[in-house]
Amino acid sequence: MNDAKTDRQLRLYVGLVASGGLACLVWAANSLTAIPPGKLLYLAALTVIIASASGRLIELRVRSDYRAFTSTSGSILVAVATVPLPVAVICTAIGVLIAKVVLRDPLKVSFNVAKNTIAATAAASVAYLAGIRPPADLSFHRASVLHLVAGLILAAAAYAVVDDLLGHTVVAMASRTSFRQSITRNWDVVAIVRLANVAIAVLIVLVVAMQAQFIVAMVPTVLALQFATKNNIGQRSDQEAWRRLAASTGQLNVTDLTAVLHAAVTRVPELFSADGAEIELRDVTPPRLVRGSASRISYEGPAAKAPARTGAVIEEDLRGPANESIGVLRLLFRKSVKLSESEQYKLQTFASSLYTAVQNARAYTELKRINAENAYAAAHDPLTGLANRRELLEQARGLFAARTTDGIFALLLIDLNHFKEVNDTLGHTAGDDVLREVAHRLEAAATPGDLVARLGGDEFAMLLTGLPTPAVAAHRAAVLLDSLERPIEVEGMQLTVQAAGGIALAPGSGGVQELMRRADVAMYQAKRGGQRTATYAHARDTADVGRLMLGGELSRAVAEHEFTVDFQPIVDLGSGEVISAEALARWHHPQHGNLTPAQFLQTVERSGQLPGFVNAVLEQSLTAYRMWLDAGFDLPVAVNVSPRSLLDETFPGAVLAQLARHAVPADRLVLELAETLTLSQLDVVDRALNELRDAGVRLALDDFGTGVSSLSVLSRLPVHQLKIDRGFVRAVETSSEAAAVVRSTVDLARSLHLTVVAEGVESEPQRLALWELGCVAGQGHLFARPMRSGRLLATLQRGSGGRPGVLAGALHPAGSVVRMPRRRTPGQGRSSLPHLPA
Ligand code: C2E
Ligand code: CA
Ligand code: CA
Repeated sequence: MNDAKTDRQLRLYVGLVASGGLACLVWAANSLTAIPPGKLLYLAALTVIIASASGRLIELRVRSDYRAFTSTSGSILVAVATVPLPVAVICTAIGVLIAKVVLRDPLKVSFNVAKNTIAATAAASVAYLAGIRPPADLSFHRASVLHLVAGLILAAAAYAVVDDLLGHTVVAMASRTSFRQSITRNWDVVAIVRLANVAIAVLIVLVVAMQAQFIVAMVPTVLALQFATKNNIGQRSDQEAWRRLAASTGQLNVTDLTAVLHAAVTRVPELFSADGAEIELRDVTPPRLVRGSASRISYEGPAAKAPARTGAVIEEDLRGPANESIGVLRLLFRKSVKLSESEQYKLQTFASSLYTAVQNARAYTELKRINAENAYAAAHDPLTGLANRRELLEQARGLFAARTTDGIFALLLIDLNHFKEVNDTLGHTAGDDVLREVAHRLEAAATPGDLVARLGGDEFAMLLTGLPTPAVAAHRAAVLLDSLERPIEVEGMQLTVQAAGGIALAPGSGGVQELMRRADVAMYQAKRGGQRTATYAHARDTADVGRLMLGGELSRAVAEHEFTVDFQPIVDLGSGEVISAEALARWHHPQHGNLTPAQFLQTVERSGQLPGFVNAVLEQSLTAYRMWLDAGFDLPVAVNVSPRSLLDETFPGAVLAQLARHAVPADRLVLELAETLTLSQLDVVDRALNELRDAGVRLALDDFGTGVSSLSVLSRLPVHQLKIDRGFVRAVETSSEAAAVVRSTVDLARSLHLTVVAEGVESEPQRLALWELGCVAGQGHLFARPMRSGRLLATLQRGSGGRPGVLAGALHPAGSVVRMPRRRTPGQGRSSLPHLPA
């Protein structure tokens, strides 16, 4: 509401009441009959009683305005009961005037005098109607006590109605509160005061009825009563205020700082009957300010941006036990106001509670943050920000628990191949970059709802959820692994990450542990099969002992010569003649029996036992070479080399020393290198390979065609031979794409003067197809499985068709080249002349 307008209305209203009071007074003066002089003392005493009863019993401040409670009504009742109506009215006017003059506020004085005069007129009139009619000569009327009490109660009610109507209207207007609010405030105190007034009035009237002069004695009695009541009421309202303060500080006990501030700002105006309140926290940058009233928050934000304040302010610092200030609490008033001593004390109390509440909320927030941080750290991998193993297991357990409703879910385990080399050669920073990028790509390729985790090292895992059918898991896994195919740029180099993924669908029993185990088995199946992903199948679950083996066993294996080598002959596809042999390592494990490289190789590569293992393989390979040579078969021996060996600077020296020790010419040793792009870009690898090559050792690129950029590898690695991966061989007669790969590899090899060997030849049609595509050498089950060197020698000596050193019949009987008619893409129609293998 507009302030000026209200003030105008207020003045108009006060003027109206004043005129009413004046009218009552004028009427009373006119109706006044002569007063017997003997009664003047009585009237003087009555007037003094009215004056003293009009002193403030209590003073209540309503916001910026004060409202006094008095016991005027009781004394007026005495007048009403004992003197004629006009006299009562005049006594009231004079009595209240005397009392209010001390207020020295003309507006208030005239209002109060007028209000009480009107109220007295009303009370006296009602009493008159009720039959209480003191005679005009002030000779006291002796009414029955019952009649007196009833009449006075009616008169008191009339007084109360007028007093409330006039008084609360003015308070409501001045304090801009509603009439209802004003009348309901302290109604109980007021009611008690009024009832007491009636009782006292009846008492006094009965006393003066006995002897009029007793009225004089009543003056100190009324004053004493007034004082006692004042104290009582003061205590009562004080207690009430403390109770409310306690309740309010209780409401500050919340853990959220904003909630604390809001509660405080909205409670304070009511507690201290202020128009508004604000809290400024100064120990934060920028200082924070919350301002509001009992009903709403009007501003919240940086203190500097808060709208300017109007009116008066009472400030209280928010201080802690060490007297440090964190800010200030302000009571806002329209007009200047002085707090009573007890109010000041309450304000201090409230401010210190607020300080505690603010600090508690802050401490709680901090605690929550630390907890959240700890929870995050406990559940996440710090390097990639992905969930960690613990979190993955946790979530998987959750999925198992809620499974009945949620359909199918699966675990995909992903293991990066050759990651350790990146770390060892490019350093951990580059390794970390690769891991982060892998994490990033997996997350980008994941379906919402999937959980991507890093289990440690180069092992990642994903929980695939919400699968409509089991088959979708394999499809999703393929998409995820695809996303890793693009080369990763690290320190200016293009690295390709190859990975194998194992998929396991949530099993019916065994829970998380079994799920992990199955995914692990599947992952190793993928690795072994040279596939990108494999899905766990119960039929193929041959409890992969290799995975359970500890590095500790490896030193024993080396020392006890548990590593052995089998040899698989490599033959001329045309003639069936054995032209060389590939050494394939085996582990004769005392408990687990014969283990294949897929079961133990990674453990060996990751352990410190790799040089010992390499030595054992080389030793046995060269020994076998010498044995075959001594028997008349000069078969170069091909040995597989781990990429990790190439990073070992002692490797070339060790190879050459072995050659020298066994007196084997360097060109009789072929080292088969797995095609990893990672390695092709490292100087240390280049140096090692050049050193070996310069010494005469032959180099072959294994599994050719499976890497992403075989050609770029080839341009860097000075190899002599390409080994076509068995994946192409398997499909060579059925897939034109596989045939095209074989064909182009052959063409490439020819132009670079390299030899080509096909791996995994299992059937005659494959052999024929390869041969017709120009591939002249191969190995595989068609010719022989890997076997011990002694058995191979026996096989060689036995020969085929009476020819030693030959394992299969010639493809083209000498003289007549029989060619099956085949449909081919242009340019593939003619087979080329065979090259001599290495
Ligand atoms: P690789 O170099 O591709 O070796 C050929 C693998 O194909 C051998 O498996 C061999 O047994 C298998 N194989 C031969 N003919 C056929 C066939 O007709 N059909 C099929 N399906 N498979 C055939 P193996 O012995 O299990 O060796 C697996 C891999 O382990 C090798 O793949 C090689 O990369 C690695 N490895 C073997 N020995 C050594 C070693 O001494 N050192 C290192 N670093 N790696 C080795
Ligand atoms: Ca090989
Ligand atoms: Ca191979």
